[in-house]
Amino acid sequence: MNFELTPEQKMVQEQARRFAENEIKPFVEEEEKNHAFSLDRVRQMADLGFFGCGIKEEYGGNGMGILESVLLAEQVAKVSPSWRLPFNMQNIGPALTVQKFGNEEQKQKFIPKWVSGENVGFFAITEPNSGSDVAGMKTNAKLDGDEWVINGQKTWISNAHIGDWGLLYAYTDRDAKYKGMTCFLINLKETPGVTTQAI
Ligand SMILES: Cc1cc2nc3c(=O)[nH]c(=O)nc-3n(C[C@H](O)[C@H](O)[C@H](O)COP(=O)(O)OP(=O)(O)OC[C@H]3O[C@@H](n4cnc5c(N)ncnc54)[C@H](O)[C@@H]3O)c2cc1C
Repeated sequence: MNFELTPEQKMVQEQARRFAENEIKPFVEEEEKNHAFSLDRVRQMADLGFFGCGIKEEYGGNGMGILESVLLAEQVAKVSPSWRLPFNMQNIGPALTVQKFGNEEQKQKFIPKWVSGENVGFFAITEPNSGSDVAGMKTNAKLDGDEWVINGQKTWISNAHIGDWGLLYAYTDRDAKYKGMTCFLINLKETPGVTTQAI
């Protein structure tokens, strides 16, 4: 079996290496000192197609797969582990999940905006008392008329303080245990009652 990267994959890798060297490395020390986040950089990464791997072309995908996503993320992570996170927050967490489990309307509405960086994504699973043990989560969602009312607290949610649309997991049927969890698409800035804070 040949484990060599193809010439195209090597090009992708080199593009990410140059991006990380030129656009992240010179600034990262200062940014980390000041806890600074750059939305412009997320969009720059999106413009280079970094978040379109594994996504169908009709939803903004770039024709590349998960291996290419790993090659890109690896080069960025070498320079800054923090700046590897947008691959999870735009592509792997929200976009690939909605592509696999969402309906057609959700796919068309949300995926292209995560891929393009127009929406800053997130996924909210972890809670103060449940990490690896996801089934131990306490957040509940109940249908009230035609609205879902969600009650609970999440923690460690990357991008929570700057996120737009993303995914939030809650119990809708606790008796069904892990099969009774539902993934909600929510907007952190526009949903009444949501509060977020950077920690
Ligand atoms: C930088 C950062 C960003 C994050 N971003 C997000 C995010 O965007 N969204 C989100 O939902 N969460 C996020 N998390 C949370 C992350 O997913 C959790 O930290 C993770 O699920 C582990 O949970 P925990 O920290 O509660 O550890 P625990 O689940 O308490 O685990 C503690 C230790 O016990 C071990 N352990 C746990 N269960 C078992 C078992 N059954 N058998 C043997 N060993 C076990 C673990 O391997 C670990 O070493 C983030 C965390 C960090 C550090």
